[in-house]
Amino acid sequence: MNQKITEELYKTKVNEVIVPCAKCSGRTAHEVVTSIDQFVEDTDCDVQWMKHYQIMRCKGCKIISFRDADLNSVEYIQAGDHEWDSRNYEELYPLCIEGRKYLGNSALGAALIWRFARGYCPPDTSINGVPLMLAYTVLPLMFNEDTRSKIISTQSSVYKFEEKYKDKYDLLYLIQGRAMGMRDLTRRSICIGISSGLLNLVPEDGSIYPIYQPVPRSVTRSAKELLKAAEKLGEWAKQFSLFEFSRTLHLDF
Ligand SMILES: [Zn+2]
Repeated sequence: MNQKITEELYKTKVNEVIVPCAKCSGRTAHEVVTSIDQFVEDTDCDVQWMKHYQIMRCKGCKIISFRDADLNSVEYIQAGDHEWDSRNYEELYPLCIEGRKYLGNSALGAALIWRFARGYCPPDTSINGVPLMLAYTVLPLMFNEDTRSKIISTQSSVYKFEEKYKDKYDLLYLIQGRAMGMRDLTRRSICIGISSGLLNLVPEDGSIYPIYQPVPRSVTRSAKELLKAAEKLGEWAKQFSLFEFSRTLHLDF
């Protein structure tokens, strides 16, 4: 890959972005305090993209956060009948997700791992629990807007999900870094899952089991969609060995 990178401090002069806030509920206006803007040119593939590393301050609660956004010259999403927007990849730190006012991240993480486990070992199966390592793949996939939306919109299998990254496999390699960054969150979520009676951990075989209790009805539509997607991911995972599943997602345990 032959890349030429030109970097400038606060070149874009974008002074406001609307993104989910880790503290407020939903999306809020954030002041862009400063940013490092990179123009990247891949001369082999004739693709250009902009990378923005922004330090932001929420205009509501004033917390400082960080946004890493990518905009490239070849991907567009339809915004209207004759309207197209550039596809924007976005990562936010600290991790935030819309609708989190209903649940803290660890509590939501516990619910997602529980639903993943339900998908992986449904009540009528002889599967022996979810290998603990596999549980560490759930949050990096579900707490990222891009992978989450692709899981929600993919029906059949993890291969179909992987196919959506055709020609942009480098994005799949990012999951590994997120999995590493979310190890603590996953650990906390598993602990909450155990203490709240959603999960059982069997240390001898390093597996977690879901406790079969009814899915709560009083959750928001977006949370319901998210939980359903986690269960689907569990169903995909059970069709493969741990090795095959992680290889498809370019994960290295
Ligand atoms: Zn805020």
